[in-house]
Amino acid sequence: MPQSRVVILGAGFGGLTAAKSLAKHAQVTLVDRHNFQTFLPLLYQVSTAGLAADHVAYPVRGALRDSGVGFSMGSPVSIDHSKKTVTLDNGQVLDFDYVVIAMGSSTADFGIKGVAEFTYAMKSVHEALAIRASVMRHFEDLCRVDDGSSCELTVVGGGPTGVEMAGALAELVRGPLKRDLETVASRMHVRLIEAGSRLLPSFDQKLSDRTKLDLEKLGVEVLLNTAVQEVTRSDITLGSGERIQSSMTIWAAGVKGAPVIHSLDLPIERERVVVEPTLQVKDLPHAFAIGDLSGSVGVNGQLLPMVAPVAIQQGKWVARQIQGLIKGTRPEPFIYKDKGSMATIGRHKAVVQVNNFKLAGPLAWLAWLWLHLFYLLGGRNKIGTIADWTWNYLTFDRANRHIIDEL
Ligand SMILES: Cc1cc2nc3c(=O)[nH]c(=O)nc-3n(C[C@H](O)[C@H](O)[C@H](O)COP(=O)(O)OP(=O)(O)OC[C@H]3O[C@@H](n4cnc5c(N)ncnc54)[C@H](O)[C@@H]3O)c2cc1C
Repeated sequence: MPQSRVVILGAGFGGLTAAKSLAKHAQVTLVDRHNFQTFLPLLYQVSTAGLAADHVAYPVRGALRDSGVGFSMGSPVSIDHSKKTVTLDNGQVLDFDYVVIAMGSSTADFGIKGVAEFTYAMKSVHEALAIRASVMRHFEDLCRVDDGSSCELTVVGGGPTGVEMAGALAELVRGPLKRDLETVASRMHVRLIEAGSRLLPSFDQKLSDRTKLDLEKLGVEVLLNTAVQEVTRSDITLGSGERIQSSMTIWAAGVKGAPVIHSLDLPIERERVVVEPTLQVKDLPHAFAIGDLSGSVGVNGQLLPMVAPVAIQQGKWVARQIQGLIKGTRPEPFIYKDKGSMATIGRHKAVVQVNNFKLAGPLAWLAWLWLHLFYLLGGRNKIGTIADWTWNYLTFDRANRHIIDEL
């Protein structure tokens, strides 16, 4: 009997996991616009010169080598759900029996004026490199003029990404840039803006308070209960009407399902694909949506968080359900097993929460380092990351301060 054909759109945490898990059970084709998988949790270290960009990118073909899974670099233009075909922008038309949609998320600006035009997002290696180049260019600009002007680096969004970004920026300024030229580094300030009443709202209040304190110790100005109303190239208007200078604004305040879902003839609510508890797309039993773009809900009825463990667990789950469907069994509902959350703030500073267990400080920081290294794909990337981290730790330096976005 010929094998069932499965097309998986998106080679991120969810898609790649599903592809590997299904490799022996179906004829699988994985599609992605990039020929590499990006380890998004470490992107903020690329943007703050702590890690080389290629350590967080792993070739998809390398990950699939000898697995039998096919790969096509491209983006879906449309899905014909009755003929069961996906048309890609590279001209290919792929036939499938089952399709898995796993193309992650993009930045949400909530309609706030100026966010799309003037802020930096951090959803790809290219964007992380653009942030690094802009920070370093601001530093070089300040080095040329001694007129007392300053550079305000603003991060918007007090979730894990915003916290990690603000902490790492502050360490870059207080460490390597200060050693390069202290008078100039002292004119660079890092600010974190959060609309809610605390940082890391999904963590225990004590860990939120500790995070704020740790960031402030690093010199970050933390503004809570502060909504952003408008962003321009050089300033931010707050909800109160006050305008503050912002030489560079990094937007870490929101995510939504990848925009491409709107062109694939899928039911969408709250910018995510509507799915049954089995992760099958509503009214399209041959299609599954997993990871950040999936509108699957947890036991509390809330949308599941957009985090890597959800995507990985769903990737494995979907592979099992498709194997079952091929054998003629009915798919079962997905239940997310929450193994906890963590965020790092800086050297020896991190917070970890697993159910009622809470940890902050050096041990939490070590746990964070180990877990990220564990999940990073590829031996070379792990060794490169260990080398960069060891260098940074021993020398208090960051060697990846290059501006390489222009000739
Ligand atoms: C800066 C940052 C830090 C994060 N830190 C953490 C963390 O510390 N811990 C944690 O658990 N989670 C973290 N997350 C969230 C986590 O990375 C995501 O939840 C996870 O990547 C979702 O997996 P996914 O498979 O749904 O999507 P992704 O892993 O994003 O993969 C989506 C794939 O689809 C591809 N794609 C997108 N659009 C198209 C298209 N139109 N055509 C073709 N291919 C396309 C992309 O190239 C990508 O390879 C972070 C996210 C970011 C952005």
